[in-house]
Amino acid sequence: MRGFTTRALHVPKAKRDVHGALRTPVYDNAAFEFENSDEIAQVSLGRALGHVYSRSSNPTVEDLEQRLKNLTGALGVLALGSGMAAISTAILTLARAGDSVVTTDRLFGHTLSLFQKTLPSFGIEVRFVDVMDSLAVEHACDETTKLLFLETISNPQLQVADLEALSKVVHAKGIPLVVDTTMTPPYLLEAKRLGVDIEVLSSTKFISGGGTSVGGVLIDHGLFEWKSLPSLAPYYAKAGPMAFLYKARKEVFQNLGPSLSPHNAYLQSLGLETMALRIERSCQNAQELAHWLLSIPQVKCVNHPSLPDSPFYAIAKRQFRYAGSILTFELESKEASYRFMDALKLIRRATNIHDNKSLILSPYHVIYALNSHEERLKLEISPAMMRLSVGIEEIEDLKEDILQALC
Ligand SMILES: *Cc1c(COP(=O)(O)O)cnc(C)c1O
Repeated sequence: MRGFTTRALHVPKAKRDVHGALRTPVYDNAAFEFENSDEIAQVSLGRALGHVYSRSSNPTVEDLEQRLKNLTGALGVLALGSGMAAISTAILTLARAGDSVVTTDRLFGHTLSLFQKTLPSFGIEVRFVDVMDSLAVEHACDETTKLLFLETISNPQLQVADLEALSKVVHAKGIPLVVDTTMTPPYLLEAKRLGVDIEVLSSTKFISGGGTSVGGVLIDHGLFEWKSLPSLAPYYAKAGPMAFLYKARKEVFQNLGPSLSPHNAYLQSLGLETMALRIERSCQNAQELAHWLLSIPQVKCVNHPSLPDSPFYAIAKRQFRYAGSILTFELESKEASYRFMDALKLIRRATNIHDNKSLILSPYHVIYALNSHEERLKLEISPAMMRLSVGIEEIEDLKEDILQALC
């Protein structure tokens, strides 16, 4: 198989643009016209390929989907308007009122809120367990359970679950594994190899190419037999192995409407082409900074799964090409951390991750600002903790900025 970046650039048998444009242009239109009434009817029935209306599908968005399919060897890909849209669409395709889902509280803030507030209001029961404990996961699953959801590296705790072990536990019970791989997108992780059925990720992050646009991706790796699930059996009759993506696109996505704008799809296709290069640099920078920070007297609690004394060192090494580009550390107090962040000249104070620029914030005071002190401590987030999303700057410049801000 060809290399990752080659596959990101060259999609075999991609349709040639009508003008021969070497890059799929931005088709920024809502509707598509047809030569005759039968043609539009056939496309609407799914018997012929084509685009009818951009909320459902669009050539520029499809270009992004095809590149991701080519990159991951997936059964199919659906691109959506945000990472949260990808997560909620995946869950609502599998679960309905009366069902349960199993997850953990070590989740991205809005995903946690989705599980704590939004899904229960739809009548979906959410069971929170420690996903580091396979037995606890097994015990939480019963005949009402429609999926297990987790993240590859939790943020900001940087906890790494054993995907292969968890996939075996849930597959034995006929339950699909849905994983948010935003922290370790394709290139860092081959999710399919570890038994992940549905991969969801925020393409706002590494894919976009520097925080250019918001988007999300839902990938079906084709491992799960959808016909075995009563909720998907009717779709299996129509679409066979594509049952999950058929229901996700033709029902949940079309009806709720979280479509990706063609302009953002264009930016993200462009970002995908250089993603591996940017990931290499960011992750190598993060690894080197984490080791270097250990040698600085004022710095405490340095956390990155590439550090040999991290409890997740071995599992991260086994699962990922690199242990991601996010690290956390502390100074002696909240005040000292604030003084440090305010003195930085290069590293920016902002909430995104995987930008080309290095970004820093206090998770306690920003992402979890609305949670109680007790909740934040339970989530292992302290007032002095800082999260650094390491960018692609030259490493010496990052070190220099950190040193001058510590003075
Ligand atoms: C950013 C993020 C999301 C949400 O993605 P959006 O594109 O902002 O909707 C979900 N999960 C993780 C791990 C994230 O970092």
